[in-house]
Amino acid sequence: MDLTSFTEICLHQLKMSGVQKDERLIVLTQGMERLDYADAFMAAGQRLGANMYHMRLPQPLPSSGWAVGTTGLAAMPDAVEALKNCDMLIDCVFLLFSPEQFAIQAAGTRILTAVEPPELLARMLPTQEIREKVEIGGEILSKAKVMRITSPHGTDVTYKLNTYPTVTEYACTDEPGRWDHWPSGFVFTGGDDDGVDGQIVVAPGDILLPQNIYVRDPITYTIEKGFVTDIRGGLDAELVKSYMADFNDPRGMGMSHVGWGMNPHAKWHNFVPGAFGGGMGMEPRSYYGNVMFSTGPNNELGGPNDTHCHLDIPMRGCSLFLDDEPIVIDGDIVVKDMQMDRH
Ligand code: FE
Repeated sequence: MDLTSFTEICLHQLKMSGVQKDERLIVLTQGMERLDYADAFMAAGQRLGANMYHMRLPQPLPSSGWAVGTTGLAAMPDAVEALKNCDMLIDCVFLLFSPEQFAIQAAGTRILTAVEPPELLARMLPTQEIREKVEIGGEILSKAKVMRITSPHGTDVTYKLNTYPTVTEYACTDEPGRWDHWPSGFVFTGGDDDGVDGQIVVAPGDILLPQNIYVRDPITYTIEKGFVTDIRGGLDAELVKSYMADFNDPRGMGMSHVGWGMNPHAKWHNFVPGAFGGGMGMEPRSYYGNVMFSTGPNNELGGPNDTHCHLDIPMRGCSLFLDDEPIVIDGDIVVKDMQMDRH
């Protein structure tokens, strides 16, 4: 995408994020990655009269795979202080799950993560409608005490919801200390630490992230008191088990966030690795009517589990109930106030 077009979509983003004249913005990158994002955001910020600069971290040393929550900022307290002192951080690195991100948010800085390919950012711009619907979803979820998820493939799992807050993601952020991720469009919370029990059957067509693959044969998870106690199936199950074992951390078997997707612009079928230059899978996390569960850390929600082993698994065709009220039935949102046209 050329810089002019990229600047235009970043301008839309900064307006949706409420950027005002004289606000202090920092765009964070590392190494050679996403330098064009910094240029586009700064050009857009300038048009709004923001005071803005680009903070660039060195390229991290090579590592094996995705260790969530580990960032180059850990060794740079001065840089963290600068980020605490600005109004808005545009994170083109991916700080999520890091203690640095939590400290920056706690200081009142709002954070927008933007790491997906520009073409995807352009196709999934934040809209007022999605924000409003997601906020309604967040309201409903925040009041619930029990979530039950079922599917025709054999999923039947219950999350007790007495501990953790509800998080909304609608791809822009205009409130102090609030984090969001562009693109997005979903809501989630987490079950009580010992309050998730049942079975989840990940079915063909469901998506494993960060493996970035569509599952070909079922993976059956047994969950007891908030932890996965058994994973069985064919090749896909073996891949998941081998991946998780590599972290050598039993807390990787904890149950992480859970919720449903609400973005009609996101498509289940679009996640074809390489089709638009890769990406980390925000589109499959967001597509309308998916039910996503995840395993691993819950420190994002304020919980004690900060394992680096994290999978997100958006599923098709599930039903989700809150306190026995149907929210999603067979992969379709059934609460009128949350519905949107998929086309
Ligand atoms: Fe996740």
